[in-house]
Amino acid sequence: MSERGRPLVADIKRNSLDDGPGIRSVVFFKGCPLRCVWCHNPECTAAGPELMFNQETCIGCKSCAEVCPENAIGEDGPAAIDRKACTLCGDCVDECPSGALSLIGIYYPAGELVDTLLRDKPFYDNSGGGVTLSGGEPTVIMDYTAEVARKLKEAGVHVLIETCGDFDWARFRKPPR
Ligand code: SF4
Ligand code: SF4
Repeated sequence: MSERGRPLVADIKRNSLDDGPGIRSVVFFKGCPLRCVWCHNPECTAAGPELMFNQETCIGCKSCAEVCPENAIGEDGPAAIDRKACTLCGDCVDECPSGALSLIGIYYPAGELVDTLLRDKPFYDNSGGGVTLSGGEPTVIMDYTAEVARKLKEAGVHVLIETCGDFDWARFRKPPR
């Protein structure tokens, strides 16, 4: 959950074949109670929005430093962003010509997220697939995750949750049949 208390989505990966049966859409939520050193999605461990930098696609033009209103990108370039000074305004993201910078962490109302995921329902239906809720840790936002899962189930979509297991089992109930 973000510092404003809203669940954030880091990414939605469509046409996934690795996170359950069939063709799936995987929702990567931000926020996890653990900090495992081997984490596969470290950009999802913090709950709040983040500015991401990809060194491999950076062409070193320094346009990002020129537009930053907070001077958060100094002589050492975007690999050494001053995170305390950065306000996540997104100006550098808009200016970057190579897509090396991105802001991750988007809030979707549950219904909007479900509508987005349902666009691929024909692929789920024809492949025995569905939606996998992942992260981060989707049970950190238990009520939101449950609402999304319930709406998907009502629409006839197979739902899986990928979890680190660190959640309150007493709150995790089977839905009524
Ligand atoms: S998001 Fe805004 S404040 Fe942060 S580094 Fe980019 S331009 Fe500067
Ligand atoms: S604007 Fe983009 S490509 Fe240019 S230095 Fe900054 S991050 Fe690298």
